[in-house]
Amino acid sequence: MPKFYELSREDRIAQLLADARLSQAAATHLLANEPLPEATAAHLTENQIGQFPLPLGVVHHLQVNGVSREVAIAGEEPSVVAAASNGARMANLGGGVTGVAPDMHVVDAEIVFANAPEVATVVQAHRLQIFTVAESAHPSIVRRGGGLKAIHTDTTGQFTKIILSVDVQEAMGANIVNTIAEAVAAYLEATTGLRRLFAILSNYSEQTTRAEVTIPHAALATKQATGAHIAAQIALASQFAQLDVSRATTNNKGIMNGVSGAAIALGNDYRALEAGVYAFAASTGTYQPLSTWENSEGQLHGVIELPIQVGTVGGAIGALPLAKVSQQLAQITCVREEQEVLASLGLVQNLAALRALVGPGIQSGHMALAAGSLAISAGAKGSEVTVLTAQLQGKKQSLALAKTLLAQIRQQGEDK
Ligand code: NDP
Repeated sequence: MPKFYELSREDRIAQLLADARLSQAAATHLLANEPLPEATAAHLTENQIGQFPLPLGVVHHLQVNGVSREVAIAGEEPSVVAAASNGARMANLGGGVTGVAPDMHVVDAEIVFANAPEVATVVQAHRLQIFTVAESAHPSIVRRGGGLKAIHTDTTGQFTKIILSVDVQEAMGANIVNTIAEAVAAYLEATTGLRRLFAILSNYSEQTTRAEVTIPHAALATKQATGAHIAAQIALASQFAQLDVSRATTNNKGIMNGVSGAAIALGNDYRALEAGVYAFAASTGTYQPLSTWENSEGQLHGVIELPIQVGTVGGAIGALPLAKVSQQLAQITCVREEQEVLASLGLVQNLAALRALVGPGIQSGHMALAAGSLAISAGAKGSEVTVLTAQLQGKKQSLALAKTLLAQIRQQGEDK
């Protein structure tokens, strides 16, 4: 029986449908490959002149908290889905990934004042009114069980800020929080004479989602090396990343390859997500890897911790039909689950990258998969892409070589 990656696109969708990972409507939508409706596209950006399709791949069977999930990734880098699928395969041999998201989904806003040391006292005096103003600014989030939960102040040099911590429930929350922050700022200006510098949410968060996995050595073995050797090398590479910012940066980029691509597929604001994640990596004052790996007693143990500011509703999610399909594929029913799936994806992505790095290196796998893009860049069309991609395997790839091979393929076609 062919493996999932060996199937045609249509057969993959048929399999996902047969396995009840997709509804009939979602399968039909995927098969149709339809662009966004014009009205949607026109309203999601100013000055719209077209659409920009990216391929949507799926990480097959990533087990998170005991549930096997299909995690869709939108992106242009050919090796991302392949590596994450490989990482998922190894993680599943260890029983899958366990993820734990924060109990409450909180986003902070900052109302900043310059040269106003009285802000803390003013906030103390107006505390109850601030809660009332916040509720009137966004009553529906309060009805949903969320809304303003805490108020703090903080002074740095000449600046004092009021920090409003808002429970945004299932939303990513930027608009909700900005609405509340501006209403509270306007109230304070009107009643106290204070003048704010600005009021906006912060994309920084120390509310992290944690995921971990324990993998038996046997699952890590490569053609050239034992699993025990690979595990020891991965643990060493992890230690190095904690000491070396150059490596930590690349480690974290690799983690975000999958996480950002999945956030896009889920219709989320990946810029907000990335801003928070990379800032958190430097939260101790020294830029650190988001993941750590330790090797002991025949097992490799990996942990990832990162803030994941996303939502299952709001923003553009409702306007992008594929975002709902991605939620369905990953069996995401709430924002906590979404955060746990994304953190777990980052961890297995990192595992696959590290195993390749300390083993055969990443270039062989990357170049094998990149050959398809190169073939298309050289001008291959239709079935030529498959033939040229196959011919490029194992060769020192370049655009010039791809063009030469393509010319030969076409010449042979004419000679027949
Ligand atoms: P929305 O403004 O769309 O707010 C989410 C809405 O979803 C709520 O107003 C709520 O409306 C509705 N909703 C339905 N069900 C729920 C639920 N269970 N829990 C919570 N809300 C629910 O989006 P966000 O506030 O999430 O903001 C995200 C957007 O903001 C993204 O598009 C992002 O790009 C953008 N943005 C990001 C910034 C940043 O990151 N720095 C800055 C500014 C904007 P109702 O209750 O009335 O049904």
